[in-house]
Amino acid sequence: MMDNFFNDEIEKVVFISEEQLKDPSLDKLYGRYWEDTFIFNIFPAALYERGDFLGDVLPKGSEAAQEGFCAVRDENGIRFYYDRKELKIESYGLYQSIFSRNKGILETDTMAKKKAVILGCGSVGSLVAMELARAGVGSFLLSDPDIVEYHNICRHQCGIEDVGDLKINALERKLKNINPNVNVFKFEGIVQNLPKAMLDEFCVAGDTVFVGCADNRAADVYANRISIYYSAYFISIGFWERALAGEIFYHIPGRKMPCYECALGDGGNISARAQANHHVYSNQESTEGLKFEPGISVDINFITTIGIKITIDMLNLNNDGYIPRVLDNLKQYTVICNTSDPRIGGEMVEIFSYPLQITTSLVVGFGQKKCLEENTCKYETKRKIEAEKGKSHADDISE
Ligand SMILES: [Zn+2]
Repeated sequence: MMDNFFNDEIEKVVFISEEQLKDPSLDKLYGRYWEDTFIFNIFPAALYERGDFLGDVLPKGSEAAQEGFCAVRDENGIRFYYDRKELKIESYGLYQSIFSRNKGILETDTMAKKKAVILGCGSVGSLVAMELARAGVGSFLLSDPDIVEYHNICRHQCGIEDVGDLKINALERKLKNINPNVNVFKFEGIVQNLPKAMLDEFCVAGDTVFVGCADNRAADVYANRISIYYSAYFISIGFWERALAGEIFYHIPGRKMPCYECALGDGGNISARAQANHHVYSNQESTEGLKFEPGISVDINFITTIGIKITIDMLNLNNDGYIPRVLDNLKQYTVICNTSDPRIGGEMVEIFSYPLQITTSLVVGFGQKKCLEENTCKYETKRKIEAEKGKSHADDISE
């Protein structure tokens, strides 16, 4: 035992969930001991592999170990010892404790049923997923083909310990570190290759959001089509060069809203959003050799955060007790700038009146004939006919 300045003994304390204290199969303790605080933090089962081995849980009637940390079962549960001295336990309801500070704002049980398909797990997708996990979203489908590399770290939610692993694996670890009960489906690939069987298993109409963070319009068009197919919400978060500004587009099924393709077109031959935006907004003559450079983390995160707020509002649309934070004020298509100063952003940003401007007046309609069918989105019409026929997800969405 350590002493403090007054020679009072500072006792070691064990943090452990009530669930684990009641778990009869708990026989080994993993987690971390913090020397500066004298706290043993016992990790929940989902995080065992990330913790240090701290000691065994010995059967009822056993003697505590002579030295070090151990636990012994008794009639009432588990007692913990260090050098045979019994330690104080601070137990907590894991789930209740994690989300206690969301209380009164987000309904924890409601949010746990919500599902997010994260299409692209880079700087944007990783932040969206982390924030939705903190909001209590219970299930994630992560889709991305890439590996975490050193040059990602200054923008990504993952760090050096994740370099070399797939982004989907690294992000799963981060999500479980927030909520060990979170369900994670993973797909190593791009949205256009997502297997239908996986989506069929994952998606629940009205409780699912598709988040397009893949930085190309073709992926967003495709993702919005799939979201309509599953009667799910859709949001796309994209950026201009160096994240000087960004664009957010959302779609709520069943409201006769234009889909991404109806409103903004299919991207045509332009595969990268950067090139599309460059084409539209930049005064540079040639886009040749242009490498999409998404900018610094704080600029990306400011724009992404607006998208996350919209996402949380959409997921709570059917929740009577919830007052939308931004959805009633933001149009289906919102442009957000980080700078309005042409010395930083060039001519492109001159359309903005002030830095950090969030548009509330831009209106998109059924502007693109390709998806138009008697002033409704043809994908929504198709979905409606299928639903009326009772034909559920029978034909192939990938064409
Ligand atoms: Zn459409």
